[in-house]
Amino acid sequence: MKLFLTDSRTKQKTEFIPQNKEEVTMYVCGPTVYDDAHLGHGRSSIAFDLLYRTLKAFGYKVKYVKNITDVDDKILKKMKETGQTLKELTEFYIDRYNKDMKALNVLDSDISPKATENINQMADLIQDLIDKGSAYQISNGDVYFNVSTDEAYGSLSKQTQDDVQNRITNSEKKDSRDFVLWKAEENKEEVGFDSTLGRGRPGWHIECSAMVNEFLGGDEFLCDIHGGGEDLFFPHHENEATQCRCGYGKEISKYWLHNGFVKIDGEKMSKSLGNSFFLKDALKVYGGEVIRFFLMNVHYRNDFNFNEEDLLASKKRLDRLYRLKKSLYGVGTSAVNKKFKEDLLNAMGDDLNISVALSNIDNFVTSSNEKINEDSKNKGLKKEIISNINFIELLLGVGGMDSYEYFQFGIDKEEKEKIEDLIIKRSEAKKNKNFEKADKIREEISKIGVTIMDTPNGTVWEKA
Ligand SMILES: [Zn+2]
Repeated sequence: MKLFLTDSRTKQKTEFIPQNKEEVTMYVCGPTVYDDAHLGHGRSSIAFDLLYRTLKAFGYKVKYVKNITDVDDKILKKMKETGQTLKELTEFYIDRYNKDMKALNVLDSDISPKATENINQMADLIQDLIDKGSAYQISNGDVYFNVSTDEAYGSLSKQTQDDVQNRITNSEKKDSRDFVLWKAEENKEEVGFDSTLGRGRPGWHIECSAMVNEFLGGDEFLCDIHGGGEDLFFPHHENEATQCRCGYGKEISKYWLHNGFVKIDGEKMSKSLGNSFFLKDALKVYGGEVIRFFLMNVHYRNDFNFNEEDLLASKKRLDRLYRLKKSLYGVGTSAVNKKFKEDLLNAMGDDLNISVALSNIDNFVTSSNEKINEDSKNKGLKKEIISNINFIELLLGVGGMDSYEYFQFGIDKEEKEKIEDLIIKRSEAKKNKNFEKADKIREEISKIGVTIMDTPNGTVWEKA
């Protein structure tokens, strides 16, 4: 089976062939930790999580690095506002970020290096660039990259000029496109690190170049796949690439992948979410898996329009999968159906074609329900269906929850205890043939907003 990916440098779908058959290396630009994660972070993380899961399902061993930018102008600004130290502020948001990603069932990367823990590697690369004539120091001690020394600058994104950056041109810059590699500490209150370049802090772009080399460091290309949001294509990725070319004499990545933007459809957003862009707010209203399923249902390269109407339609689709799973509660597993598995892998192997994968799943749910209706005593069939659902979870990160818990989302612990308690009382009333009392309890339960169902395994409930 072959895996195809669209390389954003050529915009062509190409067969993925890693440099080293034994191990695929992948680097994704992670969050700058000064605020809560928003829907865009969620979508990007899910896009690369799907790629990570797909590569593994294709049998590759994968080394996945996703960095954390924990020193940056925005972080410094927030420190001034809140009075927190760098460590206090960044650890707080790293923790929140990790919680949100866990709720979205995003797998941890193999390595999550922090910028502040790799300052020496950055200083070494900057020194290398100075020695090779591709970087220079200005009078205040800052170091700039000299773009004109790299003829290939712009070959990645087909852009070379950043309008925003050029407005804040320093008069000592040799070329208006030159960008900062190192900011020397101007006063003691600023955050600074001691290094061979003196005391200061790194620019943003140098961080990833140094860490790709440190943690992946491939022979021809520093890594096989480099990814991030479309907004990072230029200047961030262009600058990362030029630093590696001029400093290490290597291209940073063999393939480049970028995910599209998330736009909020303001008018269609309901009161429950307002216009919040934060994941934490969406996660309060819907389960993590519902949000994940929604954010991944549009192909990763396309822009995503976030509105609640589409979210609810997408939730119904996931509900169907969980209804099927719930109808088979407690049956064991066997082997995954070979064709089902191959079809899903073929879909994801075609540049992560999620639309085809999800329509395969829709068909699987429909045909499984039909088969169970026709042959309700067939245990082998049921076990295979559950095994297929487990494979969906492995590949796409959805369908792995307990099917009852899935339908109980939004009921807090106290309410849950109350419901369980009422169910026991109702069973007792039924046992004592006090049907009037049992009916009253049922009514009381439905007022809480849940529906109960009597099954061979006892009474179960879900949110109405
Ligand atoms: Zn980066």
